[in-house]
Amino acid sequence: MRNVGLVLVCLVAACGGDDGGGDGGDGPACSDPKYGNGTCDLDTTCDMVDVDCVATFETQAEAQAWYEETHASIAPALPATDPLYDRIKPLLDEGWDAYRAVHDLGDLEAAEVQLVIVNPPQIQLAAFVVPFDAERDRAALAVMVEKVALQGSFTDEELRAIMMHELEHTLGLHIVAGVRESTIKFYVAPGTSEPFGYDADDDPMIREDYEDWRQFALVTGHFSDAELGGFPFALLQQALNAFLGTLPSPLPAPCATALQNLNAARTAILGAVNKLDSSLTLTPSDTEQIVARFTAVRDQCVSATTLDAFGFVAQVTGLSIAQVKASLPADVAAQLEGINPVVGLYNWAVNARRLMREIEARFAARTGQPWSRLRYYSTEEAADDSAAWTMKALGEEGNIGISLSKLEQIEAQCVPLVTGNQPIAYGENLVDEHHASCWRGGHYKAIQASDDGPSRVAPRRRSSPPLRRSIFEKEAPLYMN
Ligand SMILES: [Zn+2]
Repeated sequence: MRNVGLVLVCLVAACGGDDGGGDGGDGPACSDPKYGNGTCDLDTTCDMVDVDCVATFETQAEAQAWYEETHASIAPALPATDPLYDRIKPLLDEGWDAYRAVHDLGDLEAAEVQLVIVNPPQIQLAAFVVPFDAERDRAALAVMVEKVALQGSFTDEELRAIMMHELEHTLGLHIVAGVRESTIKFYVAPGTSEPFGYDADDDPMIREDYEDWRQFALVTGHFSDAELGGFPFALLQQALNAFLGTLPSPLPAPCATALQNLNAARTAILGAVNKLDSSLTLTPSDTEQIVARFTAVRDQCVSATTLDAFGFVAQVTGLSIAQVKASLPADVAAQLEGINPVVGLYNWAVNARRLMREIEARFAARTGQPWSRLRYYSTEEAADDSAAWTMKALGEEGNIGISLSKLEQIEAQCVPLVTGNQPIAYGENLVDEHHASCWRGGHYKAIQASDDGPSRVAPRRRSSPPLRRSIFEKEAPLYMN
């Protein structure tokens, strides 16, 4: 009996937050001693986020002063006396009411979400949230919205949905250090099915495939088109630019022409990206032209540098040459060593793409599904799901994927796919957790159409291992959008 009694005490403690809390009742909303003890704990027994993990502001002026002191380098704040503030704040307040109705927030329910309007020259993030400080050990209950995003880009309903997405980044603690990396989980969507990611179990083999693939995609870009040859993007493009920076000035005319042609080819390739799925479709004659242009740069642009491809990648990443070399299989590294950096970077990209295709084939062999059926659940999807549920509680749609498709000018292709419940490409750019806007539109619609309720769980419930970092990965920026 004694043991049973102990178990019961434990159960009561675990369920102590059922009163909803935060409305002036006595004691905290959850009886776990870690709840409200002054330190943000991701592992309480509460069903709600620890109140210590979210900094709140009594007044807008307080939030504005905090933002200006800590984060104004992202975009300057606009005074709250701007008439836009009075238009947008009620949208946020009504959204917050709905958010509180569908999520148990404990002692945070009494707080107000503050709005800070910022003023970058053009749309950069539309809306975003930031951690309370550089330590990232707390979120802050404020949503930042860009003035340019308020001037005709979005309807009020769309804006509200976007702000609700941001709010989830805060109250889901996505912005707190380590949470984003440990939220991500991997699964496969067989055939044309689209299982909901929040419901999926993490598959360690698919995770391994993705992590291996991502190491190369961060270096050379995600494009899979074979006709691209070794045209470098991402980090290898930066390394190529670093090499070009060593050329004597003024450039000899043949080199200047070769570089102009190379830049024109890059512009043409990027202009040909299908925005619906971030894919490329080139032809064999494009490959010939790409090879000819790199050959011309190799032959016409002569630098006094003694660095090879590894040296330039080391230079732009701050890593040692040994670390850079170790990122490649030894046989590939041996081919690139000590040769002209233009050739080395080109061949690096060729090899990275070959290895990516091998990983994709391994995935297909393991799962019986093509690489395009790899799926992952991320904090971006969690924020979309949460926004869809909050908006549904308000009787509104505010489909975030469709709003973004408008911004990307693919609305005409995307909307019929979403409204017709058609299969939509997940997109090739798996490095970007925001990936394909139109797929997000279809997913958002499916979430709203589902009978499932909000399933936001406190970070303690996340048991996935953190995403393996690449040595080439940059530090995450101090914002999330
Ligand atoms: Zn987001």
